[in-house]
Amino acid sequence: MSDPGRTIEPIPDASAARPLAVHHWQVKTVLNRMGAIRRQGVSQKIADWSINPYRGCQHGCAYCYARRTHIDFDLDGAASFEREIFVKSDAAAILRGELRRHGATWNMPISIGTAVDPYQPVEGTQRVTRDLLQELCAARAPVTIITKNTMVLRDADLLAEIARRSYCAVFVSITTLDEELARRLEPATPPPLKRLAAVRSLVATGVPAGVMIAPILPWLTDGSGALEELALAATRHNANWISSGTLRLHPDVRPIFFDWLSRERPDLLERYAAWYVRADPPTYYHDRVHARIDAIRASLGMPGGPPAYVDPRPVQAALF
Ligand code: SF4
Repeated sequence: MSDPGRTIEPIPDASAARPLAVHHWQVKTVLNRMGAIRRQGVSQKIADWSINPYRGCQHGCAYCYARRTHIDFDLDGAASFEREIFVKSDAAAILRGELRRHGATWNMPISIGTAVDPYQPVEGTQRVTRDLLQELCAARAPVTIITKNTMVLRDADLLAEIARRSYCAVFVSITTLDEELARRLEPATPPPLKRLAAVRSLVATGVPAGVMIAPILPWLTDGSGALEELALAATRHNANWISSGTLRLHPDVRPIFFDWLSRERPDLLERYAAWYVRADPPTYYHDRVHARIDAIRASLGMPGGPPAYVDPRPVQAALF
């Protein structure tokens, strides 16, 4: 697929088997309209609008559902997804215009990072996420963020300001407390304990933050006591909520994850092949895990998500 709007900027990375390439990508829009997501026969809407500053993710999680977005670009969803990162150039200026045209009313928070991580390492030099947050803060737009990276702490002051002006909720994704498993499964992410420490720091700075135990991987991260210990650790690090989700394997992503299994846990290949005939695991597993998470949350007195966003304007209009 060719696009004259893209240029390639190679970045030396001695530690990587393959050099990192950053593609500057001229986009026309930054705000993406989101439809409902259907899982286990249930439709759910997580946001009306999403923003993904990047395409591709250096974190390289073996199970990542966003790998398929690289396949849409005629790139491979394995190594290229992790080493060829598309950066939305001029994103902040484009967003500023979109926010102006959209007006001040939002039914739901804008969700940043629904596809790939907005705080993957390349954000350290490109700073697209930070620039976008400044626009959202100026426009008093409500925001949610999903990340696995402690770099989110760099923007804690800005996120706290967004929380004061409108609404902010940061979901820090942690799949396991097992550092070795996390390193193999999510190779370029910070260790789980550092992510927990980031949750504590965010909350201390005035940024509502919770732990997202997702994806829960059958036979890998759902062992006896594992989810309970992770939820307890989240509580001890002052997480404001614990959300969760089971592993979903899109047909394009399944072979990549199965390659990982064949290297790391070949003993699980047959079981996964039997369960992941479709994208979702069997309903009885999904229901059992969620009942378990509900029980854990109840025992810890922990909600399953942040407080709902309430558009303040109808209230203000009623007052004046
Ligand atoms: S951090 Fe998220 S987007 Fe990045 S590879 Fe992992 S699952 Fe995919």
